[in-house]
Amino acid sequence: MPIERKVIDIEKIEEQRAICAQIFERVTADGQRPLAMVDTYGCQQNEADSEKIRGYLAEMGYGLDVIVVNTCAVREHAEMRVLGNVGALNHSKKARPGQIIAVCGCMVQQKHMAEKIKMSYPVVDLVFGPHELWRFPELLNQVMEKHKRVFAIDKAESVAEGIPLRRDGKVKAWLSIMYGCNNFCTYCIVPYVRGRERSRRPEDVLAEARQLVAEGYKDITLLGQNVNSYGKDLDCGVDFADLIRQINDIPGDFLIRFMTSHPRDATEKLFKTMAECEKCAHHIHLPVQSGSDRILKRMNRHYDRAKYLDEIATARRYMPDLVITTDIIVGFPDETEEDFADTLSLCEEVRYDAMFTFIYSKRVGTPAATMPDPYTRADKQVHFDQLMELSNRISGEKHKEYEGKTVRVLVDGETGKEEYNLSSRTNGGRLVHLHGDKSLIGQFIDVKITASNTWALYGSLEF
Ligand code: SF4
Repeated sequence: MPIERKVIDIEKIEEQRAICAQIFERVTADGQRPLAMVDTYGCQQNEADSEKIRGYLAEMGYGLDVIVVNTCAVREHAEMRVLGNVGALNHSKKARPGQIIAVCGCMVQQKHMAEKIKMSYPVVDLVFGPHELWRFPELLNQVMEKHKRVFAIDKAESVAEGIPLRRDGKVKAWLSIMYGCNNFCTYCIVPYVRGRERSRRPEDVLAEARQLVAEGYKDITLLGQNVNSYGKDLDCGVDFADLIRQINDIPGDFLIRFMTSHPRDATEKLFKTMAECEKCAHHIHLPVQSGSDRILKRMNRHYDRAKYLDEIATARRYMPDLVITTDIIVGFPDETEEDFADTLSLCEEVRYDAMFTFIYSKRVGTPAATMPDPYTRADKQVHFDQLMELSNRISGEKHKEYEGKTVRVLVDGETGKEEYNLSSRTNGGRLVHLHGDKSLIGQFIDVKITASNTWALYGSLEF
């Protein structure tokens, strides 16, 4: 049974763009210089949201003095940084009294955080949650016209098409295919702040993918909190594997990547599709979070170690060259030595190409926040360091295996360094530094890997 989706009519987005045009007229009337900044914290979904905010700002002519801080709620540390940086904006506002400061994103979707900003950060003029991003121009206009603070934290979970986008760079692009999450992992705040899963319709995703290819983008990452459940809330019979196949059929030389995959919903059909679609990168980011069945249950992850390892084996059967990366939380409440040993042994068994490891961060409002935890931060740090050591060793060993081989990479930018002035990525997403002319940016080329370390490969064009 499809869930109810609040689809924002395209006319409503056109109204927002008309407001952009009004603001443009107003702020450029006296020939002001363009000035705006969007400061982004957190995940790729937030990066993609910031591209929409920049798209709107571009239509407003950038002719206003506005700072937008797009926040993340996943870890306490990021929230503290945001609050520190927002507090520091006092100086900026004193120097430029007309400046508008907006704070948006997941952090302010939490009621206690919105309240905190209202009470303790008078420097902030506008606060809006992820569900209100589509009407950013209208909200900003209210601040400009009425000279009062605006707080917009709606809970209505929306899907909006037609918002203008301003992307960073010309080689790699994010393409959001769905929003929200239904999984309710016990440590995670995302379903509470980003709402339930809402997939964009396949025809809208395909139209955007075609446009990206036409504009020359070579590396397209399909984004969602759990891309593997794409389409379950629609009635069109297209699942995530089908979507990859349809994008793969778009003519052109480009790569399809995606993130994030939940092991609960990763299917054999997906792995088979990845193997059969020549444009789909052989890389999967499959967050395991823990190697202990007891902890996985407490995390409400809906898979166990055996199922996870079985998925990895199936994926590797279809793609022996598959690059596998993961996320791991260390120090989940009541994680014992034994539980942690299970995580270490799982990592040894899978041999991840890279691991993103985090110490558990308590999030107000999630079930894990009330779970008893006898372990200290110092205990957790010991495990974290052990895991990092293992991760670095395995990544270094896996990178060493590339040495002497010729690999196809996409050159994606400059490093700012002299010796290895260009950065590139292999099909599996491994970072390769090389030396060459910057006209190579945006091209697929063959390079010989001559050296490596834990974090990167080093390649040469001469072989
Ligand atoms: S799958 Fe779990 S960890 Fe990922 S966003 Fe959803 S609730 Fe959070």
